[in-house]
Amino acid sequence: MHELGIANSVLEAVQAEALRHPGAHVVKVGVRVGELAGVNPDSLAFGFEALTRGTEWERLALDVETCPRRHRCLACQTTFRVVDALFACPGCGAAQTECIGGDELELAFLEMEEP
Ligand SMILES: [Zn+2]
Repeated sequence: MHELGIANSVLEAVQAEALRHPGAHVVKVGVRVGELAGVNPDSLAFGFEALTRGTEWERLALDVETCPRRHRCLACQTTFRVVDALFACPGCGAAQTECIGGDELELAFLEMEEP
């Protein structure tokens, strides 16, 4: 389950950020996961919970935002969400489109409480 490794990276990023804000308490971390990233959001949440249970990070909430696959039309530059593997442009019908999103795997936000 590589989601556990990702959960660990997320926690490390939170810890690094917390060090930069002495006294502040990180209450929530948001992660953006594209549907092409090959990450199961449920597994990630589960792994994160397993990782923080019984530690000082136990009450840290994880918010996973999934990002849909997006394409851009090479002919008219329309960007659109790909649904049911339909890659043709909904604007002009062109078949030549390129993938521009959906493989995200990044921190979206940190929510902190100042004492
Ligand atoms: Zn188009």
